[in-house]
Amino acid sequence: MKRRDFLKATGATLLGSASSVAQARPNLEPAPEAVGMLFDSTLCVGCKACVSKCKEVNGMPPVIEGDAVQYDSARDLSGDTLNVIKLYQNGQANQKDQEVDGFCFEKRSCMHCVDPGCVSVCPVTALRRHPKTGIISYHVDACIGCRNCTMGCPYNVPQFEYDNPFGQIRKCEMCNQAGVERIDQGQMTGCAEACPTGATLFGTRNELLIEAKRRLTLKPGDIYNYPCGDVNHPDSWHEQEVAAYQPHIWGEKEAGGTNVLHLSAVPFDKLGMPPLPERSYASISEGVQHTLYSYLALPAAALVGLSYVVHRNTRDSEGDSDE
Ligand code: SF4
Ligand code: SF4
Ligand code: SF4
Repeated sequence: MKRRDFLKATGATLLGSASSVAQARPNLEPAPEAVGMLFDSTLCVGCKACVSKCKEVNGMPPVIEGDAVQYDSARDLSGDTLNVIKLYQNGQANQKDQEVDGFCFEKRSCMHCVDPGCVSVCPVTALRRHPKTGIISYHVDACIGCRNCTMGCPYNVPQFEYDNPFGQIRKCEMCNQAGVERIDQGQMTGCAEACPTGATLFGTRNELLIEAKRRLTLKPGDIYNYPCGDVNHPDSWHEQEVAAYQPHIWGEKEAGGTNVLHLSAVPFDKLGMPPLPERSYASISEGVQHTLYSYLALPAAALVGLSYVVHRNTRDSEGDSDE
């Protein structure tokens, strides 16, 4: 066999087996009692009560940017900020929930993916999906600080504490980490509890999905009583005119879906949401990894290749080239 033919055959075998197994692992299904949140951008007034409450619940300091400002002015997620409200604005920015000459607010925090990339790429299971609630938790005792999770997340959520010599990964754990455990104690998340308009709503993924689908059937301009707090046991209601929603529930299907769902009147790509296929990255990458390592295809191919090179060099040195 000529070297070119050998390389072609080896490459084709590897690619063939990798792609066939990459199809083998389907997306994970939502956890049986998955809890999450519905963020409805059309209800958000940008008050940032959810940001303050998040810091209070998680014991995090304000981020002061510049000398003139003496209040929390965090603009993005960081080791000290697990939840942030961002502003979209265009042109005159005088119309709420309009793409052109409009503005709106978008919440950024962990989406609690159904088939999470961060969990998939962590080599030591420092990130885990709860089998019942689907909450993605972080376990500092297991973490080796490799920061793979920061690259495995399509939403750029996990943040490493670079300014801390004992730095760890920080991300929203749905207010249910050790010492907080709001969900285990039957409470809702801090951000949902603090939100005055119901823009951040807590509940099970199933109930939130039903509520989100109901909103997409409403007629723009009609009045709707939006529940606040917990979708199943609202602590109050917020009456508001229905906006012209984008006909899309973000997180229903993106990359296997998320337990935190978003609704908006402004297209999601304008709000910085990444374009994602329905197939989760975890299902693809784990399929390839298992092909290459679990079935020892790569080491076997490497051994065959090395044997060939040794054999060829031996023959070359005897003056019998096969090229
Ligand atoms: S949003 Fe990122 S950090 Fe959160 S569960 Fe998904 S992959 Fe993990
Ligand atoms: S669920 Fe808790 S940790 Fe997550 S964004 Fe809301 S308040 Fe912050
Ligand atoms: S508390 Fe509610 S309305 Fe205020 S910024 Fe947060 S999500 Fe928006």
